[in-house]
Amino acid sequence: MGLCRRRWRVLGFALGVLFFILIIHIHVPKAQKDVTDDDIMIPLKSRHKNQEEYIDKRGIHVVVGHYLGDEVPGKTTPNLTHELLNSNGYSPQPHAGEMGNPVQIPAWEAARMQQLYHINKFNLLASDRISVNRSLPDVRKKQCQGKDYQVDRLPSTSIIIVFHNEAWSTLLRTVHSVINRSPRRLLKEIIMVDDASERDFLKKPLEDYVAKLSVPVRVIRSDVRTGLIRARLLGAQVAQGDTLTFLDAHCEATTGWLEPLLSGIAEDRTRVVCPIIDIINDDNFQYVRSFELHWGAFNWNLHFRWYALGHREVDQRKKDTTKAYRTPAMAGGLFSIEKDFFYQIGSYDRNMDVWGGENLEMSFRVWMCGGSVEIAPCSHVGHVFRKSSPYTFPGKGGVGSILYRNLARVATVWLDDWADFYFKMNPEADRVRDEVNVRERLVLRNRMQCQDFQWYLDNVWPEHFLPTKDRFFGKIRHEQKGGCLQKPGIIGTASQPTGPTVIKDCVIEAFQPQLFVFTKKGYIMTDESVCLDAPDASSSKDPQVRIMACNELPRQKWTYDEPSKQIRHVQSGLCLDLPSQTHPDTLSLQLCDSTLRSQRWIFEDVKWSRNQ
Ligand code: UDP
Ligand code: MN
Repeated sequence: MGLCRRRWRVLGFALGVLFFILIIHIHVPKAQKDVTDDDIMIPLKSRHKNQEEYIDKRGIHVVVGHYLGDEVPGKTTPNLTHELLNSNGYSPQPHAGEMGNPVQIPAWEAARMQQLYHINKFNLLASDRISVNRSLPDVRKKQCQGKDYQVDRLPSTSIIIVFHNEAWSTLLRTVHSVINRSPRRLLKEIIMVDDASERDFLKKPLEDYVAKLSVPVRVIRSDVRTGLIRARLLGAQVAQGDTLTFLDAHCEATTGWLEPLLSGIAEDRTRVVCPIIDIINDDNFQYVRSFELHWGAFNWNLHFRWYALGHREVDQRKKDTTKAYRTPAMAGGLFSIEKDFFYQIGSYDRNMDVWGGENLEMSFRVWMCGGSVEIAPCSHVGHVFRKSSPYTFPGKGGVGSILYRNLARVATVWLDDWADFYFKMNPEADRVRDEVNVRERLVLRNRMQCQDFQWYLDNVWPEHFLPTKDRFFGKIRHEQKGGCLQKPGIIGTASQPTGPTVIKDCVIEAFQPQLFVFTKKGYIMTDESVCLDAPDASSSKDPQVRIMACNELPRQKWTYDEPSKQIRHVQSGLCLDLPSQTHPDTLSLQLCDSTLRSQRWIFEDVKWSRNQ
C-alpha cells in the first residue's frame, strides 16, 4: 500500500515536470520558426514577472513566456476536445466579410473566438462566418484591368492545394475563389492533397462536396504525414494540365489572377511565375492589398524576406507596370510552373521534411540552372499569414531540427563558399550538417551544368548584403572606446526602418548585429538589407548617423581613409564620430579632423569561408 502511494507520488512529480516543460512557449516571429533555447545572449529587462526576454546572437528579440498555454485545460485555455476539433463550424452570415471587409466578433463571443483561434492559429470563428463564395474587390491596377491576355492561347493548369488539418471554410474558400475567378477553359482540374489530416470533415464530407463542383476536383491522400514538399510532389504526379499552379490551403484568388501567371509561362516556359501575395488578416479576415514594390530574397539565416525592389526592376516598372519582374527568391506557397519544366529542372528535393527551405531551394535551382523566377504584378492572391504554426513538426528535435536540416541541404547543394558562411552564422544548422545526404541533388546540379552561386549573386541579386571576396566583412571597432559598431535590436517599422547606430562591447566573433560588409560601391551594410545612413546630413547642423533600409542613395556612401582611420561620409565630406551632445543615443557626423581620436575606426576581418 505504502509503496503504491509512493509510486503515485513519483508519477505525479514526473507529470508535473512534463507539464512544466509543455507550457514553456518560445515566441519568435513566425517567419523564423527557429528554436532558440540555447541561444541566450543578452537578457533584457523582463516586462512581466514570468517572462524572459533577450536578444539572441542573431539579434532577434525573443520572448520566453511561461504561461498556461493551449494544451492546458481550464483557465484561459481553449479546451480543444476531439469533438470540437472534428466539428465543421462553417455557418456563413449574410454580408459577413463581403468585398474583403473584416469581420468583427462581438465581445460576448470573445472566449469562444479565442478558443477556436488555437485550432488553426487564425480567427476560425470569423472565417466560418464568411461565405466560401465571398466577394472581393478588384485590386489590380487600371493598366492590368485593361490588358488582353488572349486566353485562348494560354496553357491549361492543374491547381494543386496541399493541406494538413486545414479548416473547412478557408480550404473551400480557396477552391471556390479559384473556380469563381478563373477562365473555365484554363482550369484543367483542382488537385487537393490531404497530408494525413485528422479531421472527420476532411474525409468523406469533403469528397462528397467537391464532387458537385463545376470543375473536376480530385482529393488524394497521404496516409502518413509526409510534409508539404512530398505532398506537392504527390499532387504533381497525377496532374494533367500543361502547367502546375500551387496554392496554400488558405488563399483567395482575385479577379484576373490566373491569366498573368500563365501568360508569363506562355512567353517563356522556363519562367516560374508568382502572384503578388496580398494579406488576409489572421484576426478578422480583412483582405488587404500588398504593395507591388517588393521582391523576395533571404537573410543571413536563409529565412525568406521581402525587400525593396532592385533598381533594374524599378526602372522596368516605370516603363510598364503590368510586366512581370524578376525576383531573387519566391515565398514558396503560390506559383505557376510549366509541368514538363518542373520535372526537367528537378521538381523538389524530396528529402526535405514538413515545411521550410523548399522555396529557396527551388529559387536557387531555377535561377542557376537556366530558368527565372518572376512576380506578375497584375496577379493578386490573398493568403492568411499566421504568426505561428498550428501543426506539429514530427520527429526528434521538432521544428528547429527539421528546418535546420532542410536549410543545411539547401546550403550544401547550392551555396558554394557561402555554405560556410551560413553554417558559421547558424551553429544549429552546422550541428546537423553531417547528417544530411545530398549526393543526388549534387548529381542533379552537375548534370544540369548549373551556374555557381557567385553568378547568382552578381546577376540575380546584385543588391545583396552577403560577404564576397571583394568586400570587407567583419567588425568595425572604435579605436578609443574599444567597442564595436552595432545594429540596434529593433529597427523602426517594416516600411520605414530606422534605428540608432551605437557602439557596444565587442562580443563573440559570430554575433550578427556586430558584423558588417563594406562594399566596393561604398555602402556599409548588414543583415536584413540595412545600411549605415546619414539621412539629415545635408539639412542639419548636427547630422545623426542612423541604420536604415539600404536605398542606394548617395547619402549611404562612405569611404575609409586608411592612414587617418577615418570613415568619411561621401556626400557631406564629414567624418563618422561619437554621439554629439544633442543626440547622445546615436553616432554623429563631424568636421573631419585627423587629430581627433574619436574619429578613428578599425576594420577587423572575420573569416567567412574556408576559401577566402
Ligand atoms: N502543409 C502540409 N503538410 C505539412 C505542413 C504544411 O500539407 O506537414 C500545408 C499547409 O496545410 C499549407 C501549406 O502546406 O496549405 C503551407 O503551410 P503553411 O501555410 O503552414 O506555411 P506558411 O504559409 O505559414 O509558410
Ligand atoms: Mn500558408
